Amino acid sequence: MKQKKLLYAGKAKSVYHTDVDRKLIVEFRDDITAFDGGKKDVLMNKGSYNAEVSAFLFEYLMKNGVKTHFVSMIDPRHMVVRELEMIPLEVIVRNVAAGSIVRNYPFKEGTKLDPPVIVIDFKDDARHDPMLNDDLIVALKLASPAELKKIKKVALKINQLLFALLAAQGITLVDFKIEFGRQGKSICLGDEISMDSMRLWDKKSGESLDKDVYRFEKGDVMATYNRVAQRITKSAKKR
Ligand code: 5GP
Repeated sequence: MKQKKLLYAGKAKSVYHTDVDRKLIVEFRDDITAFDGGKKDVLMNKGSYNAEVSAFLFEYLMKNGVKTHFVSMIDPRHMVVRELEMIPLEVIVRNVAAGSIVRNYPFKEGTKLDPPVIVIDFKDDARHDPMLNDDLIVALKLASPAELKKIKKVALKINQLLFALLAAQGITLVDFKIEFGRQGKSICLGDEISMDSMRLWDKKSGESLDKDVYRFEKGDVMATYNRVAQRITKSAKKR
């Protein structure tokens, strides 16, 4: 497969056309950003740690009946994916109160959310990703009511699967953000699932094992990403 023209460059990934119909290549770059791009760095190997974790988690989800865009890895930072018509929603599933819901609502950090809380933001950098509700999503024609119902159902299934996998490695899945797209009539998981898009706490120590280490300068970001990638992929290999 040959990499062709750039289709899209985001803050941490670039997506390329290929010479194969409806297949794209996603490059996981070493760029890391936080606070709406207000904090930026380049950290060596970050792209490959996130790509490795994303690939393992996509494969694990697919084995468990979740449709994803994942096809294969070309090398540690280049992933072949099926082309989707992306839906500009950031679907966030929360098992424990942390991050923006603690800042914006009267939740105490660390409170268990049972059942999990789904929050959906509008993926729109210029508007700073405002939170949506079902009526707004339908009124803006971002998704139909049937698609929205399916997205929420799949997001909760993904949550159950990831929560169990990570718990077996002594990691609490606090929350995570996923994005979906359409492939024909079906809804398919796209984008990535990595230390950039999940909030992970060590069950024993409570230590952050994700991008919060970068956001809040809690320690060596790449040492953390490396360690977490090994823990997660070890657990996925067993299943
Ligand atoms: P919060 O709303 O607390 O900032 O984020 C909730 C969860 O979604 C966290 O795991 C966070 O990493 C993820 N998340 C929220 N917005 C984004 C985003 O724009 N990009 C990425 N990669 N993850 C996000």
